[in-house]
This record gives sequence, structure tokens and C-alpha cells, in this order.
Amino acid sequence: MTTINTEFETELINSGVACSHAFRDAVNEAGIVAITDVQGRILEVNDNFCHISGYTREELIGQNHRILRSTEHTTEFFRDMYRTIARGLTWHGEICNQAKDGTLYWVDTTIVPMYNNQGKLDGYLALRIDISEQKWIVQHLERLAHHDPLTGLPNRASILNSIQNTINRKTGNHFALLFIDIDRFKLINDSLGHELGDKLLQEISHRLRKAVRVSDSIQAARLGGDEFVVLLDNLASPQDATLVADRLMETFSQPYELCGHTIYSEASIGIVTSEHFSETASEMISSADLAMYEAKAAKMGSPVVFDHVLRDKAQKRLYIENQLRDVISRDELTLFYQPIVELESGALKGVEVLIRWFHPETGLIYPAEFIPTAEEIGMIIPIGNFVIDAACRQFGEWRKSLGEHAPANLHVNVSRKQLEHPTLVAVVEQAIQNYAIPPECLHLEVTESIIMYDSQTSIQTLNQLNNLGVHIDVDDFGTGYSSLSCLCDFPIDVLKLDKEFIKKSKRSREVMLIQALIILADQLGLEVIAEGIETPEQLALLRKLGCKYGQGYFFSKPLSAEDLQLSILSPKSNSPQLARV
Ligand code: C2E
Ligand code: MG
Ligand code: MG
Repeated sequence: MTTINTEFETELINSGVACSHAFRDAVNEAGIVAITDVQGRILEVNDNFCHISGYTREELIGQNHRILRSTEHTTEFFRDMYRTIARGLTWHGEICNQAKDGTLYWVDTTIVPMYNNQGKLDGYLALRIDISEQKWIVQHLERLAHHDPLTGLPNRASILNSIQNTINRKTGNHFALLFIDIDRFKLINDSLGHELGDKLLQEISHRLRKAVRVSDSIQAARLGGDEFVVLLDNLASPQDATLVADRLMETFSQPYELCGHTIYSEASIGIVTSEHFSETASEMISSADLAMYEAKAAKMGSPVVFDHVLRDKAQKRLYIENQLRDVISRDELTLFYQPIVELESGALKGVEVLIRWFHPETGLIYPAEFIPTAEEIGMIIPIGNFVIDAACRQFGEWRKSLGEHAPANLHVNVSRKQLEHPTLVAVVEQAIQNYAIPPECLHLEVTESIIMYDSQTSIQTLNQLNNLGVHIDVDDFGTGYSSLSCLCDFPIDVLKLDKEFIKKSKRSREVMLIQALIILADQLGLEVIAEGIETPEQLALLRKLGCKYGQGYFFSKPLSAEDLQLSILSPKSNSPQLARV
């Protein structure tokens, strides 16, 4: 055990500090003790002092205390300390010292002034306790509290703090916030496994750090999931943020080689600059997030900068979101029906059900404006169930009232959330039973990207629907990920060619593509319906290519149930296009 030597003990007693055995024992046990003169020159140290500092007693005696100073503290810190003890007061605080070999250690320090017999300040007694371990634990906990353990980047709390500081500074300097979201990350994570997903996030963080060279002016953080944020401070101009975002997009789009897989992934980036700054960090992040949302939706591969137009759009979306919640009980949803015809004869083959929302203040709202929001907030399930029930009821009534003139098939759109929901099959079964609809008359339209998204659940649900006898159409074919293998793996009956193909059917490459798809579908025993036929030329071409069915404004726009019924009963007056073919 280290002991306080006699000379040292005398000094302590003289100082009037050490007066009990208990104190001396405590000092011997853990205390690191030094006595200095008023200038800070070391007069005496104990063994613990030598041990922790790495110096011998001989090396220390006569040296100024500054020999142990690290760069962890400011001059201000030491000035305060000296001011206190010079006034004869006790100073207490935590000091980081530097040992002989350069390592740092933290000591809880009490410096007590010592007086000589004449009552004059004669020197100082410094008693220290090693707290390096506690400090390390605290630092580690702080690191955990402010950093994301997976990527080592600062976390949400940390970047919120930095952004708030930047806002509060109000120096007039330009700054910007980039909100980065990795495209299709969920798909990669689900299909290739979470371990690889984690590796991808680490690689993305690595590229992010390298590309922006983190400094006092540039900070990068992971908000969570596949979302990252970069704070750019002291910009020469706000426009510079776009240059950084462009560089990042380029960096992220390079292929990733991970565990033998080559992964292609891009990022969508939204920017908010100090020109549109808000009072709080989270509002700034929301603005950048909004811009990112816009960038992702635009699919243009370029960053979007937040502006007031975006804010208005977001407010409208929020309004729609709030209004959507009780849209069914307010009875504002209506179904329209677009005829699907046999291209050769012009005969009515079926109808596609298209939802419309008549809002008392906003007027007509198209599905593209509210279906994505309904999906986000979960309202798509009650809305989807409403569509299935109401459409089947109407279809059942037509079968009774129109007899052989009734449309033979009913096509209902189904979104991804509905396909994933465990009640879909039961809802469909109930509707076809309730309204006595032969199951083969009902077609559910799903987009190919929906099928590719979560193939296991989708396959199961589609198989169950198939077992009921219901048909499955792949909607907007050619716009999604176009994995032709899904045509073999899934129980599909119909391919609906996306209207974009038909629109571009003046170009010979598109014509070749349409032809190839019609031949492929024929070989696989699938029917083809061309969407978006608007002109007689398009119709003639599709007929020539052997496409059997189609829909589009050339025949009819989507009609209310009453108008459709009228056009069936008196085709010449109400639906000239239908009548002409
Ligand atoms: P979709 O299933 O591909 O429906 C075809 C869309 O093309 C309809 O738009 C229709 O009005 C439009 N259209 C029809 N013929 C033509 C044409 O000749 N030219 C052009 N340019 N467009 C034509 P709408 O009604 O706005 O619906 C948009 C999308 O909203 C639908 O695309 C469908 O994905 C979704 N949707 C509609 N109703 C429902 C629904 O009840 N549930 C779900 N989940 N989605 C729905
Ligand atoms: Mg459709
Ligand atoms: Mg479609």
C-alpha cells in the first residue's frame, strides 16, 4: 500500500488539513497528493501521484505544476482556478492531466491554501482522486446519447441541437439543410436481409463523410432508418447547397459492392436554405423533408429546394389528410366506371371502377391526389373496402336490371396496403356472396411494383383470391420494375398496358415493345387490355398488333353509374365513340 511519508505527513499536519487518522488513511488509499509553493513549484508528492503521472518523485520535485497540463482546458479555466486559490480560498473541480507518456487522465481535484506560522499564504495542498474511469463511462454514455451506434454519425438529438444553435446565432450567415432519403432501401433491406441493409447504411455513411468532409461548418447525421441530414453552415451563397446535394447524389448512385452483391441505390435529396428558415430545428427538418418528398415523387434524379409553393402544397395535403378521416361517414365518395371494350367489335367487355371524391368546398378530387395519402394514414383499408362493396353492389344491380347488356366484368383497383391487409380475401368473398356475383367476373387490378414489393405476402394473398375464382390484372404494366419473371410466378390473368406506351406508339421502338408484350402475353395465356386509347390511329395500330381489349377517352371517359347505364341503353346519343366502333 502506498503511504504518506513522514515528511509529507508533517507538511499535512502543518497545513492544518490533515488532522485525523481517517483522513490520512483515505489519502493513502486513493489520494493523489502534491504540495506546491505559491508559484506552483512542486515541493512534495506521494507515491500515487508518481504512479498516475508516470514521473519519478525526483523528476517532479522542483518542477512547476504546469508539467501536467493537457490541452483539454482553456486558459480561462486555469485563470479562474489561480484567482480562487490566490485569494486563499479552496478550489474544487475536475482536471484533465497529461502523464509523462502523453496519456490523459482525469482527476477530481481539491486545492487548499496552506499558511505559515505568521498566517501568510505559503503554498498549496492539492488532493486529487482518479476519476478517469467514471469520465470514460460518462463520455461513452454521452457518445451513445448523441451518436448513432450503427454508423457512428451524430444522431437526431445531436443534429437538432446543432441546427437550433445555428438558427439562434442569427449572424446573417447563409446555411442550409439537406434531407437525404435512400430510394428503395426498404426493398433492398427486405429482399437481401437486414444484415446487408445495415452494411449498406454504413457504406452510405462512409461515402457521406468522405463527400462532405465534416468540419465545424459541415455536420452530417443519421436521423434514423435510411434518412440522413447534412447541415451546411457559412455558405457563400444558399445556392451552393444544391452543388453539394448534386455531388452527394452522384456519390450515392455509384454501385455498392457488399458481400458479393452489387447493389444499385440512389438517394432523393430535399434542401431548405436560410432564405426559408424557421424558428425551430424540427420545423427546418420538416421543410427539408417536404422538399425530399417532392424530389422522390418527381423521380427526376435531382434535389428539390423548399419554397412557398411546396409549403402550400403540403398544407393542402394536410387538409386532405384531415378531411379523409371521415370521408366515408360524410358520404362524399362516388364511383365512376370506365368502359373496357373489345377492340374489333367495339362491344362492351367490362368496366373499370374509378373512385372520385366530391368535397363540399374543394370540389372534385381525383384519386391521384388522395389515394397516396389514404395509404399513408391507413384510410385506404376502409376506403378500399367501401369501393369493393359499393362496386359489387352496383355490378349486381346491373346484372339484374340490364341482363345480357350488363358489362361482363368488373375491374377494381387494389392498392399495396390492401393486398398486405389480412382481411382483403374475406372482404372480397363477402361482397361476391352478398351481391351474387360470379367470382370470375371480378378482376382485381394491382400494379407490378406492388407485386414486386413484398412477394411472399402478395403471392399468398393473390393465390387465395385466385382460389376464390377472382381474376388478377397487372395494372400499368411496363412502368414498374418490369420483372418479367413475376408473370410466371404470380397467378395473373390480364396485362394492362400502361397508357404511356400507347401515348408513345408513334415511335417505332414503342410499337415493337407493344407487339413483343402482346406476343409474350399470348404465349403465357394472358389477356391484354391497352389503357389510354385516345385516337383512331392508336386504335387502328392496336388492332393491327392483335391487342383484343382496350379502354380510353376515344371510347369513353369514366362515367357515373347513371351515365354508364344510359350509354348502354341508348348508345348512339350518349356514347358516340362506343357506338361508332
Ligand atoms: P388506373 O387504374 O391506371 O386507371 C386509369 C386512369 O387513367 C384513370 O385515372 C382514368 O381516368 C385514366 N384514363 C382513362 N382513359 C384515359 C385516356 O384515354 N387518357 C388518359 N390520359 N387517361 C385516361 P383516374 O381515375 O384519375 O385514376 C388514377 C389512378 O388512381 C388509377 O389508375 C388507379 O391506380 C387509382 N385508383 C382509382 N380508383 C381507385 C380505387 O378505387 N382504389 C385504388 N386503390 N386506386 C384507385
Ligand atoms: Mg386500374
Ligand atoms: Mg392503369
